[in-house]
Amino acid sequence: MTLRPEGNGNDELTRARDEMVRYQLAERNIRDRRVLEAMARVPRHRFVDVALRSRAYDDHALPIGSGQTISQPYMVALMTEALGLSGGEKVLEIGTGSGYQTAILAEFTPRVFSIERSPQLSRSAAATLKELGYNNVILKTGDGTLGWPEHAPYDRIVVTAGAPDLPAPLFEQLAEKGILVIPVGDRDFQSLEVVVKRGGKARTSRLIDCAFVPLVGREGWDR
Ligand code: SAH
Repeated sequence: MTLRPEGNGNDELTRARDEMVRYQLAERNIRDRRVLEAMARVPRHRFVDVALRSRAYDDHALPIGSGQTISQPYMVALMTEALGLSGGEKVLEIGTGSGYQTAILAEFTPRVFSIERSPQLSRSAAATLKELGYNNVILKTGDGTLGWPEHAPYDRIVVTAGAPDLPAPLFEQLAEKGILVIPVGDRDFQSLEVVVKRGGKARTSRLIDCAFVPLVGREGWDR
């Protein structure tokens, strides 16, 4: 029997992923079992540069090029849990980035749409998602602050970059009883807001302080 050269490395990464789920997520009150399972399944290390793979399961964000970052595992888990997915919802993500959060969403539902403003990041995310067999996600390059009206309404919307305010087109494109999760604040620090649409009105609650890269676009920050 021959050992594949990457064999040990993969075992180590799997162990690191299991530990991430246990210590960074479960012990910090991520309770939704399906979120924990999705985070245990998706190989986060595939969404970062080869040189950063050994750090992929560390407790922080990592650079993904173009001045952007893959969010901290805890933040991805918290946002996913806040979306309250039961499976099959139509979901819109703004800020594809590495495609990691996109893959987590695709573990819940085959109807995932994701918009990224950087063509380079969008191309690279598309390649990674395809390699890993996530064939249902639909990506596009553009200004996500305008949403994606052609496929609206969405049961869930998640914004993975920090906004000055909730972009009006996104709230418009949210279905009644839908849930939208978005970091809102200044350019450096935000609070993670959970917006539920009831009778056409927004009910907003705050989850936690956070620091995302800026949401740049017509209904976001200037570059
Ligand atoms: N979910 C991603 C997070 C990437 S960081 C991940 O886990 O990898 C946020 C991303 O939002 C960046 O890639 C940035 O280019 C993108 N972004 C910023 N403003 C945007 C906009 N108006 N529309 C779409 N994407 C935007």
